Amino acid sequence: MKILVINAGSSSLKYQLINMETEEVLAKGTCERIGIAGGKLTHKAHGQTFVIEKELPDHTEAISLVLKELVDKTAGVIESMDEIDAVGHRVVASGETFTETTLVTDETMKLLEPLSELAPLHNPAAILGINACRAVMPNKKMAMVFDTSFHATLPPYAYLYGIDYEDYQKYKVRKYGFHGTSHKFVSQEAARYLGKKPEELKIVTCHLGNGSSISAVKGGKCIDTSMGFTPLAGVPMGTRSGDIDFAAVEFLCRKKGMTLEEGGVYLNKKCGMLGVSGVSSDFRDLTAAAEEGNERAQLALDMFGYCCKKYVGAYMAALGGLDAIVFTAGVGENTPSVRAAVCSDMEAFGIELDNEKNAQKNDGTIREISAQTSRVKVLVIPTNEELVIARETAALL
Ligand code: ADP
Repeated sequence: MKILVINAGSSSLKYQLINMETEEVLAKGTCERIGIAGGKLTHKAHGQTFVIEKELPDHTEAISLVLKELVDKTAGVIESMDEIDAVGHRVVASGETFTETTLVTDETMKLLEPLSELAPLHNPAAILGINACRAVMPNKKMAMVFDTSFHATLPPYAYLYGIDYEDYQKYKVRKYGFHGTSHKFVSQEAARYLGKKPEELKIVTCHLGNGSSISAVKGGKCIDTSMGFTPLAGVPMGTRSGDIDFAAVEFLCRKKGMTLEEGGVYLNKKCGMLGVSGVSSDFRDLTAAAEEGNERAQLALDMFGYCCKKYVGAYMAALGGLDAIVFTAGVGENTPSVRAAVCSDMEAFGIELDNEKNAQKNDGTIREISAQTSRVKVLVIPTNEELVIARETAALL
């Protein structure tokens, strides 16, 4: 079985064609600048990179070009489109409408439409991607795989905000969480690595990238997660503030002459690591600056490590114990100093790092970085959201 995975953004579209028997990526690539001048497709297959510069006025044109490339004599990996058994689409927000991977039909597309309000930057793009695929491959089975559905198992006491319950019911304002496919994937991989069933384990998964979220996974089910109604909540991130007192935001808006909407943009784009350090939102830049003695870069890194550590501690309590901590995504996989900060002074809780193993470079495999004596296993697991989408799509069919 071959599954095409599509991750559509407003002006970009990423894809992977995966052979499900071997879980091998046959081809992958990105369409950039869709709807703006200078369209470009970068396609990787057979160990080579193929670049096509072509205007891509809309997502339908982009998908058509991708399919053409997939069956191309030189760059292609299949003879015809018939070899694609199904398409799996990444969709960010499921609201309370969908709790699991769902077949794309006229009916489910109608239900998806109103959820754009919950993720205005992401869901409309996913809808564009799905509609484009349906236009080009009208008879192909397709699935929507939601970033939020792994968090559908949160109990109400974990997902509710302390607001008027009727407002929650009426407006569906609650914690939804994000990065669900990643948290699901790495928690399952951790179980496999440890030779245990997911049902037997209590795991904290730290997806630390440009956007970061931390989840508590008990018996294979997510019971809490750090992001909220939007991805703004939780630990401070590249440019997002993370958790903040609303009264502080209101005060800042008044002082800086910002509307509430502008305040939202400020918290999403100008805060977090970038705001605190004044250097960059990128952890590579931050660690380099801190090593050169930049105190605010070091402060931002200290804040990040401390906030992540507090979530690990809180989730240990929520889980009633802990078997493993997993680090994943750009920062989680590649930044030993962040992992060291999160796990520092945690010996009393059975968490001890092996500094040498922690310092080793990411080689794309699962790595155990805890000390022999550590009761809690600490693992670095490369995430693979596309593979989860492909697996979910295959399972649905
Ligand atoms: P996104 O949330 O955009 O998917 P990523 O998971 O790619 O983000 O993470 C981006 C962050 O990870 C950046 O801050 C970057 O510095 C860091 N990062 C990514 N790759 C590496 C690497 N090879 N070495 C060090 N840091 C990396």
